[in-house]
Amino acid sequence: MAGFGLIVDGRFEEHFTGADHPECVERLVGVRSTFEAAGIPERCEPVELVRASEEWLARVHDVDYIREAHAACSRGEKVFHSTDTAVCAESADISREASGTLVSLCRSVLDGKLERGFAAMRPPGHHAERAVAMGFCLFNHVAVAAADLRARGVERVLICDWDVHHGNGTQHIFDEDPDVFFFSCHQVPLYPGTGMAEETGIGAGEGATLNVPLRPGSGDADFLASLDQGLRAAAKKFQPEFVLVSAGFDAHAADPLANLEVSTEAFGEATKILMSIADEHAGGRLVSTLEGGYDLEALAASSKLHVETMLAG
Ligand SMILES: [Zn+2]
Repeated sequence: MAGFGLIVDGRFEEHFTGADHPECVERLVGVRSTFEAAGIPERCEPVELVRASEEWLARVHDVDYIREAHAACSRGEKVFHSTDTAVCAESADISREASGTLVSLCRSVLDGKLERGFAAMRPPGHHAERAVAMGFCLFNHVAVAAADLRARGVERVLICDWDVHHGNGTQHIFDEDPDVFFFSCHQVPLYPGTGMAEETGIGAGEGATLNVPLRPGSGDADFLASLDQGLRAAAKKFQPEFVLVSAGFDAHAADPLANLEVSTEAFGEATKILMSIADEHAGGRLVSTLEGGYDLEALAASSKLHVETMLAG
């Protein structure tokens, strides 16, 4: 039986964001040490780091933007485009490696060499627009991976973004594309201010975007219903051939950046819903990538349950 691909690599701990930045190195150190303590890496297949080619990135980002990101980091800039998107000299390279490695993981699942996978990487990607860095994100890894799957002949890709923040970058990159369905459940009002229910796609992409805004204070029931009802019904209609998850864990009750009340256990249930959607429509093909999650303990515990649920299924 094909194995489970796990990306967890010290390289992604070399993206330094400065003191007191919520998107910090310790996030991944905690996830990695928790995985190691639980013996998770031994049960998974490692995925080699791959640097995304300019061709891969340019499917979803402007070439000038890609080069500008590298140039800003090389110059020693401390932030790129927006004051919250802190960078160090290596950040563009590391983000590019995150995109490329996610592409590699998805290709292995598509080729049947791996059954499913999870990528614990940073910086995150879902706020990155075609030509704008924002919300701690430089390159939009899940978008790069979805575009690569499409280029490799996958006809319909479903992206489920359950990060507590709306995945504005991913939505905007694909909002005219009928073959990449974007689902996002997220707190409203909250950064970045987009993701209203009325945003359903543009032009040929009309109907291939589904936003489920959740009020502050919403808990497991609303979070899981958005997936088990909204996403499940959309998937039935869309018939994806591959399912990607932008897995942020900042809807957790303990998270300092948002006000939802989701439990660790609910992320296990959410994982089961995504697995059943992938099994039903996409031959089980499911790859998840880390986005946000800023309470270190909640992030580590939720990520561990997410992966262990996928390993057990
Ligand atoms: Zn987030």
